[in-house]
Amino acid sequence: MAVSNIAITHASSGVVEAEVTRAARISPHFVRLTVAGDGIADWRHLGFDQWFRLAVPTAGDTRFDNLAETYDMAGYLRYLTLPKATRPVIRNYTVREFRAETGEIDIDFVVHGEAGVAGPWANDLPVGARVALIDQGCGFQPVESDWTLLVGDESALPAVLGILRDLPRDTRGHAIVEIPDADDFQHVDAPAGFDVHWVIRRPEAPAGRTALEHLRELPFPDGRVYAFAAGESKLATGARRHLVNERGAPKRNVSFCGYWRAR
Ligand SMILES: Cc1cc2nc3c(=O)[nH]c(=O)nc-3n(C[C@H](O)[C@H](O)[C@H](O)COP(=O)(O)OP(=O)(O)OC[C@H]3O[C@@H](n4cnc5c(N)ncnc54)[C@H](O)[C@@H]3O)c2cc1C
Repeated sequence: MAVSNIAITHASSGVVEAEVTRAARISPHFVRLTVAGDGIADWRHLGFDQWFRLAVPTAGDTRFDNLAETYDMAGYLRYLTLPKATRPVIRNYTVREFRAETGEIDIDFVVHGEAGVAGPWANDLPVGARVALIDQGCGFQPVESDWTLLVGDESALPAVLGILRDLPRDTRGHAIVEIPDADDFQHVDAPAGFDVHWVIRRPEAPAGRTALEHLRELPFPDGRVYAFAAGESKLATGARRHLVNERGAPKRNVSFCGYWRAR
């Protein structure tokens, strides 16, 4: 993970193996994979922006049974000792939807070209592939406030929409979601007192900049804000800097997390 002040919690579920049972292109830059399995029915469902380490297969004989049950520093060091030929690649993803009745989790993957592992793998619509998930909890940890601000790019769209879906219905606030294409819009189930600003990335603008510009121009409601900012590293850190330095938000009122780093 790039830059962040979010705390990680681990469920007792440990490494949960699952199979990709459905795959669909849902918009120009998103693929949705559904994973299912016995272990998913017992998933510690927290909602909001709950995220997990996703172990992605890199070959037919990729092994998941020798991963550590928690993916903290000790789990990571153990991972590094595993034979490269059979160990999976590990990336971070958000629970887009959880269905206990059917033991299913939907994951929305940003399709971002040929580089990397998880994005291109998902883009191949790998129905039948085995994966493993290690729960990491929620980064959204509100403190006492009068209103809520959410800021993200497309990688944080699942997180922002999950938070909006699960917030108490009387929560007030603003959500800014930057997407590369107007057709990447998704239906949002937000509290009535929320304004959701869908911001289309300006051509040639680096990811996150258009959302940051929108944030700088946004008239703030009165009262104390709690903010969650996630996405490309400069968006997460830029939003935090703006909120703390220019809007007077206490540092503890801002949760931020770099979800990926532009190179
Ligand atoms: C808590 C958390 C939750 C996350 N949830 C989601 C989620 O639900 N859906 C999701 O799609 N991503 C999510 N991400 C981001 C995801 O983990 C990264 O995008 C990851 O780098 C993708 O791995 P990869 O193997 O495809 O690419 P990498 O091997 O990590 O990177 C390869 C190249 O691709 C570029 N790249 C990586 N991600 C993106 C991107 N999103 N857009 C453009 N270029 C990119 C990198 O700059 C690099 O040059 C989350 C991250 C965190 C920390």
